[in-house]
Amino acid sequence: MSNPKRSKIIAGNWKMHKNRSEAKALAEAIGHGVKGEKDLPIVVLFPPFTSLAAVGDVLRDTPVDLGAQNMDHHDGGAYTGEVSPTMLIDLGVEYILIGHSERRQFFGETNASVNLKLKAALKHALKPIVCVGESLDERENNLTDAVVRRQVGAALADLEVEELKTLIVAYEPVWAIGTGKTCEAAEANRVCALIRATINDCFRSDESTQIGDSIPILYGGSVKPSTIDEQLQQSDLDGALVGGASLTAEDFLPLIKSAQKRIRSLISV
Ligand code: PEP
Repeated sequence: MSNPKRSKIIAGNWKMHKNRSEAKALAEAIGHGVKGEKDLPIVVLFPPFTSLAAVGDVLRDTPVDLGAQNMDHHDGGAYTGEVSPTMLIDLGVEYILIGHSERRQFFGETNASVNLKLKAALKHALKPIVCVGESLDERENNLTDAVVRRQVGAALADLEVEELKTLIVAYEPVWAIGTGKTCEAAEANRVCALIRATINDCFRSDESTQIGDSIPILYGGSVKPSTIDEQLQQSDLDGALVGGASLTAEDFLPLIKSAQKRIRSLISV
């Protein structure tokens, strides 16, 4: 059974979509849709940098939180074009995506840079969602488990258990992102459980901790209203990181409602 103590999370990654007025309108529609609701999951919106301030203003009196899609790991300095953790915090950002596969694929992010960004996020008390997942080629060559284990281990290098209280991990198979193909729910759950076990293995020497058991693990990859219920039924899957279906309130609000329904079913057990 799913652990009711782990937070349930629905996160919307808007990628490089929406200008400022479009972003405000979407945030308003989502904020309106959850107004006054109880038993909600944590809901986080990740607009582009250019709309963070505007969306932050809209979300201020709502239960919806603000996240950023990327940041640099330095506190500041001569890094043209980059944005620091403190600049994001100044805008009211609470969550940060780290190592999204599009950043790894198109912008040269590596397991090492993911580790630096995770350390910077934790240092500044930004809540990190670290993304991991295999490519199609890796899956077809039975490398899924090895790749995911390596990505998780590298992300957590040199960190202490006590630092990980706010960590969230997203399992996002690259072949399922933006393709309309979802990873079968049971298989996604198996990999989420592997991630949990890998996190525990990273801190094996500290026998008092099973930190992996308390970390929310999300699934991402073509999640939509028709797939979410089965996904949220899985024992090791605590929510979703959503791209395409986060771009309209019509698609995104039903995902939040499904998580709310799941939370209520776990409470009543
Ligand atoms: C994502 O951007 O993290 C993602 C999972 O996208 P999509 O839902 O469109 O596959």
